[in-house]
Amino acid sequence: MEPQRSPLLEVKGNIESKRPLVKAPSRLPLPGSRLKRGPDQMEDALEPKKKRTRGLGTATKFVMSHPRAPALTTVPQTQGQISAPKVPKKTGPRCSTAVATVLKNQKSGPAVPAQKPGTAAPPKLGGKKPSKRPAWDLKGQLCDLNAELKCCREKTQTLDQENQQLRSQLREAQQQATALGIERRTLEGELARVQAQAEQSQQELGNLSTHVLELEERLGTQEGLVQELQKEQLGFQEERRRLATLLEEQERTLQASEAALSGSQAEVASLRREAAAQAALLAERGERLHGLEMERRRLHNQLQELKGNIRVFCRVRPVLPGEPTPPPGFLLFPSGPGGPSDPPTHLSLFRSDERRGTLSGAPAPPTRHDFSFDRIFPPGSGQDEVFEEIAMLVQSALDGYPVCIFAYGQTGSGKTFTMEGGPGADPQEEGLIPRALRHLFSVAQELSGQGWTYSFVASYVEIYNETVRDLLATGTRKAQGGECEIRRAGPGSEELTVTNARYVPVSCEKEVEALLYLARQNRAVARTAQNERSSRSHSVFQLQISGEHAGRGLQCGAPLNLVDLAGSERLDPGLALGPGERERLRETQAINSSLSTLGLVIMALSNKESHVPYRNSKLTYLLQNSLGGSAKMLMFVNISPLEENISESLNSLRFASKVNQCVIGTAQPNRK
Ligand code: ADP
Ligand code: MG
Repeated sequence: MEPQRSPLLEVKGNIESKRPLVKAPSRLPLPGSRLKRGPDQMEDALEPKKKRTRGLGTATKFVMSHPRAPALTTVPQTQGQISAPKVPKKTGPRCSTAVATVLKNQKSGPAVPAQKPGTAAPPKLGGKKPSKRPAWDLKGQLCDLNAELKCCREKTQTLDQENQQLRSQLREAQQQATALGIERRTLEGELARVQAQAEQSQQELGNLSTHVLELEERLGTQEGLVQELQKEQLGFQEERRRLATLLEEQERTLQASEAALSGSQAEVASLRREAAAQAALLAERGERLHGLEMERRRLHNQLQELKGNIRVFCRVRPVLPGEPTPPPGFLLFPSGPGGPSDPPTHLSLFRSDERRGTLSGAPAPPTRHDFSFDRIFPPGSGQDEVFEEIAMLVQSALDGYPVCIFAYGQTGSGKTFTMEGGPGADPQEEGLIPRALRHLFSVAQELSGQGWTYSFVASYVEIYNETVRDLLATGTRKAQGGECEIRRAGPGSEELTVTNARYVPVSCEKEVEALLYLARQNRAVARTAQNERSSRSHSVFQLQISGEHAGRGLQCGAPLNLVDLAGSERLDPGLALGPGERERLRETQAINSSLSTLGLVIMALSNKESHVPYRNSKLTYLLQNSLGGSAKMLMFVNISPLEENISESLNSLRFASKVNQCVIGTAQPNRK
């Protein structure tokens, strides 16, 4: 690309190209223009003062030799005159020849030998060599010389004129040079100004270019933004169209809905009327249902009373792995009057006494001991079967009757298994406590449909050697041993409470499981401290049930007690009494005393004695409200199937039989 020509250069170019025009007036039609001089001669021309001091000859030389003055080099006639200068015509050809000869001689200088005056050859005229005058023709020679002189004078005159002319021309040229110098300086000043201006413009241009670049960049960004916005706008337009379609659809739906609504409103009005009729019917049915529920409770209670307010069930545990198999026929479960399909209520136990013998010496036949209870559970009976029998009793607790369920028997007969369940987590082996609570929760849920709300609060204590300990104690209470006292809930109150014991509200199985687990842990700690303490203590699980029918202002509440009694075995009187055994004896006496107190209390209640010895043991004292007239009681007598335990089994069965004979007056529900 051709670089842009700056305005300054333009100006310069113009100046150069104009130069010959400016110089034009200095063209001199002088001979001798063939003399060559360098460009510095121009400078000489621009310095007229200097030239003037050099004299005329030098000035003439300058003008004639200007190389750029084409006018000077294009004067052919002038060049031709160098060898044949123009002479006035009147001088004649002879004079011209003489002048040319003189000039030639002057030019060649000293190379031309001087001729003797008077012997000089006559000048050639018209190109013809003049014939040489004889030496004696002095007159002729003089004449020639005079002619020549005349010619020279004329020539000199002409030259003077030319010289004058040239001088005037030189003056003119010098004036022009001065003017040009001034013009040049002006132009140089202008050039400098233009250059400065150009530089400034250049700088401005640079700035402007930068600005333009910036603007272009911004423009690019703005364009991108605009494109984005346009895209967004397109999106919005699309969305708007979609929404408009949706709106139309919705409007159509709305219209349809409005039409449907007006139809529905009529329907609603008719349904309202129907609902009002149904509500009236429902209220009537609710009333009837409530009446039926009350009737059910009354009949349920009557049934329980018919079954007896004190009932005794006997449960025989299975023979455990590793235990000796009892002899066949050791325990019999004769079927009831209804045949084998009837649940067994009789138990026969055969005791062979080797000390007794017949007169013939043969061993005496085993002694048969018959017992009958409300229900007998042979070894194969499952936990669910057992619970089925007591579920009705648990229902009574919900209906507002205090319920007490005991497990009585020697250690290892299956009391804890019956009450709490097996050692593992097998749901089949779940005991009465978790099953009873689950049953209560589900029945309470059903009754909520009839307007009843129930709440349950659990506590679990152990009575060992006539001291009460909280089995639900945690943290520092646990570390202190969790000892408690039984007190009346308030002055004049019949209600009893165990001070410092935890009363935990429960509403689901998981919570009950957690409590049973905690109690087991607490018992385990005690077991390490004192050998097998659990079997030497009574465990009392109490559940306070509170029911309320807000709509009818009815309330009912009763405790459900599930008691795992201490082992009923007695110490062998024949045993030697060491220090450990003495302690054990004291323990056993305390247990026996509390168990016999329980028997005595039941007897007193049965005989309707005025004094019931509740205070004789902590157990009866704690349970007094659940043993009275309105309460229902169930005793499990657990026995071992082993022959070696027959003595204890008989003791337990005898005690249970006594209890079974008791009849406690008609129970009254605890209605408030
Ligand atoms: P107790 O509490 O009367 O001292 P346990 O309940 O601890 O007796 O029972 C003693 C052992 O017999 C335990 O290992 C228990 O699992 C087991 N056992 C008791 N009753 C049954 C039963 N009905 N079925 C199976 N195992 C039983
Ligand atoms: Mg036990």
